[in-house]
Amino acid sequence: MPAAGASPQRETVIILGATGSVGESTLDVLGRHAGRFQVYALSARTRMERLAAQARQHRAHVVVVPDDAARERFERAYGTDLPLPEIRVGDTTLAETAADPGGHTVVAAIVGAAGLPAALAAANAGKRILLANKEALVAAGGLFMSAARNHGAQLLPIDSEHNAIFQCLPVKTDAATACAASGVRRLVLTASGGPFRRCHWKDLEAVTPAQACAHPNWSMGRKISVDSATMVNKGLEVIEAYWLFGMSPERIEVLVHPQSIIHSLVEYEDGSMLAQLGQPDMRIPIAHALGFPDRLANGVGPLDLARHGRLDFEPPDYERFPCLALAYAALRDGQGACIALNAANEVAVAAFLEGRLPYTWISRVIEASLEWHGGQAEQALDSLDAVLDYDLRARRYVANLGLAA
Ligand code: NAD
Ligand code: MG
Repeated sequence: MPAAGASPQRETVIILGATGSVGESTLDVLGRHAGRFQVYALSARTRMERLAAQARQHRAHVVVVPDDAARERFERAYGTDLPLPEIRVGDTTLAETAADPGGHTVVAAIVGAAGLPAALAAANAGKRILLANKEALVAAGGLFMSAARNHGAQLLPIDSEHNAIFQCLPVKTDAATACAASGVRRLVLTASGGPFRRCHWKDLEAVTPAQACAHPNWSMGRKISVDSATMVNKGLEVIEAYWLFGMSPERIEVLVHPQSIIHSLVEYEDGSMLAQLGQPDMRIPIAHALGFPDRLANGVGPLDLARHGRLDFEPPDYERFPCLALAYAALRDGQGACIALNAANEVAVAAFLEGRLPYTWISRVIEASLEWHGGQAEQALDSLDAVLDYDLRARRYVANLGLAA
């Protein structure tokens, strides 16, 4: 049941992963349209003080926190001058909240496959879903897309490339059906090339987390920043595009575009290419999806193309960025390989960020995980439990390599 006090007139929004980079950008846009949207629920894993500040500012009805210690921190930070929101504790309540009828729109902005159960619960509940959590699609695209289809969930991509593609497709109400029979020949995902676009692979041995997280154009969470540096992020996005738009891997291309002004392109059978351009600011795709089909102001300034002067393009270098080729290989192999790729990457990136793994080993860990997968019997990955079990087995394998704890 909706918590008491939820207004029926405004569109109610649940943000899974509210304290992250995407969560903060979403709240920024929502705050500009308080007459249209109402925050229903917010979740976070850490930074309870930040969550409390968000919940106070946006008058959230529900918050979801991981455990009792987090609940106490949240309560202390929230103070006593306003009525406390309902506080739900633990992962089970997170998935329940994603399906809560009090919220109409769910913003899936948790990082990693950890976001899958809640994102899937939102799909099963037929929500309007703004999807940032690409790892959920990489790990369980088939399951997620059929849940959305079977339960009438509306999927709106907010990963900037996929949102750009969505904007360049004929107007339909759902990403999954927009591509079919529209005469689309190719999807072209642009990539900035990250901070090491010009570095030789050999020079990357000594890269630090701070260097890897210093993205030239975008300000993002640490995991996706490292993913952008290795370009595994673009590989995950190729898999994401495969599921969202139903395009075969041969018809999804990656194009390096260092300025991050064109966010992606759609090529049609007649040779026309449509592109979406804008500042590299996540409030653009988030506001597009929140308002869809209306356009909402989002605080992002206009794009001054004359000041930019030029836009550059180059093909990706698969030798310098082996993770990109590994992701295409995993997509062609199938669901189990995609799980093995994503799980290994999450473990390796966490180890790198904690100073336990050299940067250049991230791709080696992924490669080892894909080899491990190649030696496994065929998996029936047709349920959430089966996906989570295989994900855990891949993580254990990688941990046992001794490369990453
Ligand atoms: P972030 O690290 O900044 O934030 C992650 C959020 O998820 C936080 O609120 C955190 O508390 C929560 N969280 C982390 N681990 C969790 C767990 N195990 N269980 C529950 N909650 C957990 O991440 P981000 O950069 O905002 O990215 C979020 C997602 O959006 C990722 O999948 C990323 O690939 C995607 N994405 C991000 C951007 C961007 O600009 N940051 C752009 C496109 C797509
Ligand atoms: Mg992206």
